[in-house]
Amino acid sequence: MADSDTPTPKYKRVMLKISGEALMGDQGFGLHPPTVERIAQEVKSVHDLGVEICMVIGGGNVFRGLQGSAQGMERTTADYMGMLATVMNALAMQSALEGLGVFTRVISAITMNEVAEPYIRRRAVRHLEKKRVCIFAGGTGNPYFTTDTAAALRANEMACEAIFMGKNGVDGIYDKDPKQHADAKRYDKVTYDEVLQKNLKVMDASAIALARDNNLPIIVFSLDEPGGFRGILSGQGTSTTVHGS
Ligand code: UDP
Repeated sequence: MADSDTPTPKYKRVMLKISGEALMGDQGFGLHPPTVERIAQEVKSVHDLGVEICMVIGGGNVFRGLQGSAQGMERTTADYMGMLATVMNALAMQSALEGLGVFTRVISAITMNEVAEPYIRRRAVRHLEKKRVCIFAGGTGNPYFTTDTAAALRANEMACEAIFMGKNGVDGIYDKDPKQHADAKRYDKVTYDEVLQKNLKVMDASAIALARDNNLPIIVFSLDEPGGFRGILSGQGTSTTVHGS
């Protein structure tokens, strides 16, 4: 039973998307276990509210297909390497969450039965109902996509009520880069079409279109402050919501 200090979450089922870079800490590459654990704490504090949580973690801290292809690698092979990177990140997050006592499943779009469950939609829904955090790995399973699109796709399939984009160093969407322009203004709300027209850096365009077509709100917030995710879920703190017109 929730006590009076426990905030009431505004959502019952959500998707949390973080980039792979969110897991690398200050080291510039790979995984930084204390950072992974810190984010796992954020997830746990929302899980403790009874919210059903899906996660997609990128792979940019290890490998991005575009970087590989720019260096002469065949594009689809490079993209598969990027997808494999997301599996490692998902396993790291699983380990951190389970260390905190949160039950999880890593569900991969690329079959690898020894390390992760295959993606079966109904099974994933059942995990959520049983309050297991579902970490969707392997992106969409297709080259030429990104994990932003994977997050929008799985969020729709799992009937999530919103996608939460957890960012480092920024607490929403700005009209220009706030790190370079002191007068940059944060939007409280912005429409999908504005994001696309103004080319605001939120998610890639196919992910935005997928969210728009299903009217799925995207909430951009900062993962830097402890308790930030829980606060945003309860309607506190600063963020930007991308919504329909
Ligand atoms: N990727 C892919 N298909 C997908 C998802 C990801 O090919 O459905 C590859 C792509 O090469 C991408 C890499 O995996 O560059 C890592 O994902 P992403 O760049 O989205 O990671 P993030 O920027 O969020 O860390």
